[in-house]
Formats: sequence, structure tokens, C-alpha cells
Amino acid sequence: MIKVDKLNKSFGDLHVLKDIDMTVTESDVVVLIGASGSGKSTLLRCLNFLEMKNSGKIIIEGEQVEKDTHNLNEIRQRVGMVFQHFNLFPHKTVLGNVIEAPTQVKGLQKEQAILEGKRLLDKVGLADKYNVYPSTLSGGQKQRVAIARALAMKPDVMLFDEPTSALDPELVGEVLTTMKELAEEGMTMVVVTHEMGFAREVGDWVNYMHDGRIVESGKPNDLFDNPKEERTQAFLSSIL
Ligand code: ATP
Ligand code: MG
Repeated sequence: MIKVDKLNKSFGDLHVLKDIDMTVTESDVVVLIGASGSGKSTLLRCLNFLEMKNSGKIIIEGEQVEKDTHNLNEIRQRVGMVFQHFNLFPHKTVLGNVIEAPTQVKGLQKEQAILEGKRLLDKVGLADKYNVYPSTLSGGQKQRVAIARALAMKPDVMLFDEPTSALDPELVGEVLTTMKELAEEGMTMVVVTHEMGFAREVGDWVNYMHDGRIVESGKPNDLFDNPKEERTQAFLSSIL
């Protein structure tokens, strides 16, 4: 579980996150929506300490995490992240990508990492791709490798930053299906997405961000069908 309390983040004079409060309960899927520049990626990046907050609390599994008192690499292992642009290692095979962090960062034995890596690649539907290089894969396949790679660290929580928005439309479904299966297995997830069908079907909670604030949050059906805030209504009618 993650709890965020009055989180603030600025880049120089630009105040990007303003008093963000958010709770991500165990096994829940929390979807973040909002216009470009509203702070969605910055919020995700603060949650796994790729960006450092200016103030507020981030509590992960009951522990208030601070850069001065915690090993941030260890925290990042517990909070997996999948990006819009896969960020795979181009000179490593698919399996090589998946076993890199478990062996190099966690010190897992290579044989063990390979067994586990193959299991994860099977799970995301890439059993026939262990030994190929990323450049030979479709975007949807690359993103599923990126998901398997993040899972290989056995994170407590997975963060997804627009994982399908760089994909051709016909490849979006396979990645969303993989994410849905993960959610059904009980993975705790925070997902930035414009896929409202996914948000409705898989999301337990939706937060709408505007100008660095969460201005409305609710269950997907309530928020999409009966948005209370005018800004939420305007945003939803602009994208639906
Ligand atoms: P999008 O939907 O386009 O991905 P977003 O909601 O993810 O947008 P962020 O990327 O979080 O928005 O950006 C929020 C604001 O913070 C923007 O004004 C952006 O220009 C600014 N910003 C983000 N990262 C940095 C940075 N490293 N340095 C300076 N400004 C930044
Ligand atoms: Mg973003």
C-alpha cells in the first residue's frame, strides 16, 4: 500500500504538484487521468523517487520513505515502473533484459534468474522470444518485455506511465490484457492512461488531475458517468 500526504513538487519556480493526497490500497488499481502537463508523470516519478519531492509524505507499506534515511535503490526495487517508451537495453536479448536487474542488482543466481525470467516471459505471452533482440519486436511485444522486466524484481507495486500511448492502435489491446491479468492476480498498480475502457473495467479508483492537484476522485463508473467538478466534466467531454 502507498499513502501520499500533502505532496508538493516544484521544478524551480514551477509548482507542479500541489498538496497531493492519495491512497493506493493493496491489490487496487488506481488510474490517474488529466490533461498534458497536469503532473501525472511527475507524481509517478516521485512515488519511486526518480524525482525528489519538496515536501509531504510518501508512505510505502507503512514506512515513511525519505531520501536521507532510506536506500532509494531498494525502494525502487519495490516500486516497479513501466514507461511509455519501453527503455529496453537494445544490445541485450529479451531474456537478457529481464534477468539483468535480478542478477546485477539483487545478486540472484543466473540459473534462478533465467528460470524466473522465462516464467515471466511465458506469462506475458512471449515464450517464443527469449533469445531475440528488442529491435525485432513489435511495440506491443517490447512493452510486454518491459512489464516482465519490471516484474522480475518482484515489486510490491507497479507504476505505469501511459504504457500504450506510443503503440499502434492494433497493439494496444495485448498490453492492456497483460495489465488486466496482472491486476486480477492482485498486483497493486497506479496507471496513467487515456484508455478509459481499461480505467472503467480494471480500475478500482480514478483520480483526475488538473494543474498539479487531484481535483476529483472516485470509482470509475461514478467519476465517468457523474463527474461532480466542472473541470472533470470538461476534460471527459474533451477526450470521450
Ligand atoms: P503528459 O500527459 O503530457 O505526459 P503530465 O501530466 O505527465 O503530462 P508532467 O510530465 O508531470 O505532466 O509535467 C508537469 C509539469 O512539470 C509540466 O509543466 C512540465 O513541463 C514540468 N516538468 C516535468 N518534468 C520537468 C523537469 N524535469 N524539469 C522542469 N519541468 C518539468
Ligand atoms: Mg506524462
